[in-house]
Amino acid sequence: MYGKLTAICGPMFAGKTTELLKRILWARNGEGKEVLVLKTAFDNRYSDTELVSHDGLSAGAKAISRFSDVTGLAHEAQMVCLDEVQFFAGMDIDVVVFVSDLLHNGRDVVVAGLDTNWKGEPFPATAMLMAMADEVIKLTAHCSVCGQPAFKSFKKVQDDEEIRLGHSDIYEARCNRHWVRLTDAG
Ligand SMILES: [Zn+2]
Repeated sequence: MYGKLTAICGPMFAGKTTELLKRILWARNGEGKEVLVLKTAFDNRYSDTELVSHDGLSAGAKAISRFSDVTGLAHEAQMVCLDEVQFFAGMDIDVVVFVSDLLHNGRDVVVAGLDTNWKGEPFPATAMLMAMADEVIKLTAHCSVCGQPAFKSFKKVQDDEEIRLGHSDIYEARCNRHWVRLTDAG
């Protein structure tokens, strides 16, 4: 049996981790499934052993820096979840290869992450997994200027780093009208 791939994506502040946590908690507690939750050791903003959402949901998780450390665990699980999937690029095993292997072995996979960076450019890992997904859930945030649905992450700090860990100190969500590439704004 081939597993199902679900991709949850959108800008920052769209509730992606909350949506992922709802699915994890339902699978674990409602359906009694064995669920492996992965995050990158790089993203240690909140916790190393838990996945935590801004609204207080949490679930046990493993922070990893190499996929090869959890290949066995992943194959024992019925469902494998990856949060902030864009950060899994550049690991020892390509994230698309890791996910494909699980799907071929009948594991369901749910990934959540940013679809684009603050420049509006797709994150390759998220883009590939969205294309492969059986179900894509695109979430929106609220524009910090006008409150309308926001599709983009806006970086308030002027630098050219593509990935910079941070939260509302550095980023906010913007609708297309109020999202401006800082490089274009000059
Ligand atoms: Zn707006």
